[in-house]
Amino acid sequence: MLVVGGGATGAGVARDAAMRGLRTVLVERGALASGTTAKFHGQLHSGARYAVRDPVSARECVRESAILRRIGPACIEETGGVFVLLPGDDPGYPGRFLPACRAAGVAVEELDPAAIPEREPGLTRHVVRAFAVPDGTLDSVRLVRACAASATASGARILTGRSVTGLRLDAGRVVGATLEDGTSVEAEVVVNAAGAWAAGVAAMAGCRVPARLSKGVMVAVAGRLVHAVVSRCRLPADGDILVPLGGSTIMGTTDAPVKDPDDGVADDAAVRAMLAAGDELVPGYSSAGSIRTWAAVRPLVGDVGGPASASSPSEGRQVSRSHRVIDHGEHDGVAGLITITGGKATTFRLMAEEAVDAVCVALGSPRPCRTAREELPAEGGLDFAR
Ligand SMILES: Cc1cc2nc3c(=O)[nH]c(=O)nc-3n(C[C@H](O)[C@H](O)[C@H](O)COP(=O)(O)OP(=O)(O)OC[C@H]3O[C@@H](n4cnc5c(N)ncnc54)[C@H](O)[C@@H]3O)c2cc1C
Repeated sequence: MLVVGGGATGAGVARDAAMRGLRTVLVERGALASGTTAKFHGQLHSGARYAVRDPVSARECVRESAILRRIGPACIEETGGVFVLLPGDDPGYPGRFLPACRAAGVAVEELDPAAIPEREPGLTRHVVRAFAVPDGTLDSVRLVRACAASATASGARILTGRSVTGLRLDAGRVVGATLEDGTSVEAEVVVNAAGAWAAGVAAMAGCRVPARLSKGVMVAVAGRLVHAVVSRCRLPADGDILVPLGGSTIMGTTDAPVKDPDDGVADDAAVRAMLAAGDELVPGYSSAGSIRTWAAVRPLVGDVGGPASASSPSEGRQVSRSHRVIDHGEHDGVAGLITITGGKATTFRLMAEEAVDAVCVALGSPRPCRTAREELPAEGGLDFAR
């Protein structure tokens, strides 16, 4: 089988498929993890963020973050997470948040606000209520390298720096792909794991991916101004999470509809809004040090559900952050092509498992998934064939 895209999802698919004994080739147009995976916010989700509005995603995060802690501890920093209610936030929200976290299986504990200054000296002194959850941070590039190393150890080939420019069809089914240098790759099944670019890849076979694209802007300042991942205790909205990652503190993010998956512009208004949101949580955030700004695009494939919040009335915030496997044989009448899209870096392994399950169904060859049980290599190399 051929996997298009070498982000977290594609690398996870290649690892899973190769471990199930499928002859696998992954083609990535840039370097591994050079798409959204390298530009995300950095959070390993406990599920708490989604518990109230998107319980399916919350339960997926609970399960997958536990698996990732087991198979890939070297990719995770156990920062912990704190949700804080500030003056002006809906005081009724914790009454929904606590039971929703417990129902989803998120380990949540209410903290004494008086203890917050000692725990998080950089945070505003105006915390009204606070809750500890097992959020963490994820080194996504290391994760992708580890998956790629595991995939190649199981026999997969990984080709970087080469675009898939066409999908080859024969009698209504996809039978392989053409790369930009004219090389042909034959495959019984192609898995489209091209993230925000998935619609363009599917279109090469005349197929559709019903996803909307949404851009998120992030801002990083130098220094770790919080110890834990700090989130606002409210319905998911713009600018409500601070992530301490490496030597920086990242505030994000936004949710703006875009048409172009390459729209990586962090516009001034969004950057200003993120800096102001950072100041609300950590006074002085915006003047803390050198500032880096960037944007990444997410494909949204979930259903719209749940209420909008006052601080973020956009419809995009109401779309489930879950993922979707599309068998284009059923969807568009073109067999041999499966798209896996949406989701989160936190749930990449589950996404890969479901995609490879669909491949096995298409091949009429059921093979059990082993990726939740076998540890990832602690170090993945950088040298993948070009
Ligand atoms: C703003 C933002 C913040 C986020 N924050 C978090 C977070 O904190 N925690 C979390 O768990 N998740 C987060 N996510 C989600 C997470 O980043 C994504 O779910 C995940 O990284 C997507 O991985 P992917 O492999 O599906 O896509 P990508 O990483 O984009 O990989 C797709 C790859 O396909 C390649 N490609 C495209 N076209 C072709 C072609 N024709 N030929 C060959 N290769 C091709 C691209 O180069 C790219 O490398 C965030 C997303 C966004 C947008």
